[in-house]
Amino acid sequence: MLDETGQIDAELDLLVPKPYRILLVDDQMIIGEAVRRMLIEADDLELHYCKNGNDALQMAAEIHPAVILQDLVMPEVDGLTLVKQYRASEHAKHTPVIVLSSKEEAKIKAESFATGANDYLVKLPDKVELLARLRYHAEAYVKHLQADLLLRELRRLSSMDGLTGLANRRCFDETLAYEWKRSTREKTPISLLMIDVDHFKDFNDHYGHQAGDDCLIKVAAALGDGVQRASDLAARYGGEEFTIILANTDEPGALKVAQAVLGSISDLNIEHAFSTAGSMVTVSIGTATMVPDHLSNPEALIGAADQALYQAKENGRNRVVNTINP
Ligand SMILES: [Mg+2]
Repeated sequence: MLDETGQIDAELDLLVPKPYRILLVDDQMIIGEAVRRMLIEADDLELHYCKNGNDALQMAAEIHPAVILQDLVMPEVDGLTLVKQYRASEHAKHTPVIVLSSKEEAKIKAESFATGANDYLVKLPDKVELLARLRYHAEAYVKHLQADLLLRELRRLSSMDGLTGLANRRCFDETLAYEWKRSTREKTPISLLMIDVDHFKDFNDHYGHQAGDDCLIKVAAALGDGVQRASDLAARYGGEEFTIILANTDEPGALKVAQAVLGSISDLNIEHAFSTAGSMVTVSIGTATMVPDHLSNPEALIGAADQALYQAKENGRNRVVNTINP
């Protein structure tokens, strides 16, 4: 199991490197020099200076600043236009921006906040206040990113099968419901593959549960490799049963994928001396295809694929059976 917290910390370090980088964008070098002096003894802050507003966006993308100090009045491009550009950009859309203005004016302040700035300071700010605000915004930014990464990780884990890393049953149910609705709306066919490892109980009994788990992990990886399109989903349905949702796929298309899966599992060459279907681990696959309408439901598709799977088992395993007109 991966160390999730460590991974998030590593990702955070890439997003906001330490010491915190402060990007000052100001056309007047004298301001650059003054701010540099204020930050010189702060070991946790590292000043990067950008004189030309046209370079600011690219510099922000390159250095991953924790805070941007943004001058308002600049010759080529004005400060608030830049704030808008940060907000619209991929890399700086959430980066805290403190506007540095020569004016203490309520209207400009209001406009700055409305544009997306997080704070406003009048030049030249007091050193103690500047450092306090920079640190405050940097920490708040890190906390925001951390919460974001945690949420993403939780979402990923909650849809993932713990053993195989494939999508889990919950994710399967949600995806099928979603694709079902889409197919109903677009009047397109949707196909489902139900896949079962042949004689898996015998495999477990003879080779042990550790080998059984390894087998499931390899099968799952092969299934995951077998789905190509983003709208398709390979999932663990439960136990040694897997499933593949094929959106916008007709019967011939589903059969093609099923045959490919059959081949890829044989190609794993996992010995199974206790199978009646051969000397290696194999799977049986039932496929079903429907063009959903408002009278049908996903359970009917699952039922049809299940029935086809049952037939594949009856017919001798290591084969594909598809249901026609379920
Ligand atoms: Mg200026």
